[in-house]
Amino acid sequence: MAIALAALAPARAQDAGDDRSDQRIPVVASFSILGDFARAVGGARTGVTTLVGTNGDVHVFTPTPADARKVAAARLVIVNGLGLEGWLPRLVQASGGNAAIVVAATGVSLRGSDVNKMLHGKDSSDPHAWQSVANAKIYVANIRDALIAADPAGESVYRDNAANYLVKLDALDREVRQAVARIPPERRKVISAHNAFTYFEAAYGIAFIAPQGVSTDSEASARDIAATITQIRTAKIPAVFLEDLSDPRLTRQIAAEAGARVGGTLYSDSLSDEKGEAPTYIAMVRHNIKTLISALAD
Ligand code: ZN
Repeated sequence: MAIALAALAPARAQDAGDDRSDQRIPVVASFSILGDFARAVGGARTGVTTLVGTNGDVHVFTPTPADARKVAAARLVIVNGLGLEGWLPRLVQASGGNAAIVVAATGVSLRGSDVNKMLHGKDSSDPHAWQSVANAKIYVANIRDALIAADPAGESVYRDNAANYLVKLDALDREVRQAVARIPPERRKVISAHNAFTYFEAAYGIAFIAPQGVSTDSEASARDIAATITQIRTAKIPAVFLEDLSDPRLTRQIAAEAGARVGGTLYSDSLSDEKGEAPTYIAMVRHNIKTLISALAD
């Protein structure tokens, strides 16, 4: 017996000695777009995980015990704020951790929308502030400052990474403006049921108009559909982005009868996976503008 125990002891000590756990700063982001910003600023110094994956809905996420463990182990938790992550306070409480939490949207000029209130719950401000690249720069600066506060030894790394990334975002913002400038002004409008683009609209001047009849929540009646078709014709809206509708045939039917084009998929709340068309924030904005241009160009 004694011999057996003695034999175990060194093995344990060795295990402990070999346990070179991940030295990267553990950072948790609430959803994929924030995760991308965090990776851009944190680089190899941080290990970034996201709670809501690329196929999840950040508005109605149900955290698991594994998510609570991620938050408990994190040095920094990055959230959007503006009422987007209503599930977050309970998760933080459940985690029992004392990670610093940074609200990435701090400092953006809020935009409200009644439709957004209807679609996204109680908070009347639109939480999708990242859809303007100028706001994304505010997010990145907030994330940079929070990383420096959480890991002061990495300050120069975070400052360099953020500076490089902010230059890319400036170029991206110019790219979007140049692309929109090529669309005739009277064609800069679309019908879209998911009203996640009020910041994009304010920044770049493409109007996202909610359909009068159909919604994503309920089955559209023949009268709803007729109202939307009339709306599109009257306002001469060139394209419809109604990919959220429960029945995709309905989008094509509305477009055909109203004489509008069916736009492609716009990414609003999530990146695609790595092999998809929007694996990073910059790729997402480029994809969206390309999709809008092909729907709205003459
Ligand atoms: Zn949304």
